[in-house]
Amino acid sequence: MGSKLDELLTEIPDRFTINGQEYTVNMEEEIKLDSEPHLGLTHLHSIDSKIRLALTLGKDWPCSKGSVLNTYYHELMHVLLTHACIKDDEVKVQSLANIFMQYMMTKEYDDTSKIANWKEK
Ligand SMILES: [Zn+2]
Repeated sequence: MGSKLDELLTEIPDRFTINGQEYTVNMEEEIKLDSEPHLGLTHLHSIDSKIRLALTLGKDWPCSKGSVLNTYYHELMHVLLTHACIKDDEVKVQSLANIFMQYMMTKEYDDTSKIANWKEK
């Protein structure tokens, strides 16, 4: 059985849409910007809006699974805050990504049959 981390990694989507803007999510071996390696980058409001996630910071520096997932949440927060017209900055985005990751890693379910059997009135 896979770990919670493996499970959450498989839930990183290939694409999603916010306010009619489609984003694709690409996992890449390495991402460089101005010859500097980056964990992730988000291209907002372009014809080709996307989140890019690096699997390494160079051939000798593989990213951990936790780092890839945290980077995805970080880039997702950039997208969500921007579309909510809330000014984003790296500190705010990283703080949100960290607490959202804690939520995702620790959420537990005692009895899912309650909601499965619930009938909307
Ligand atoms: Zn950022």
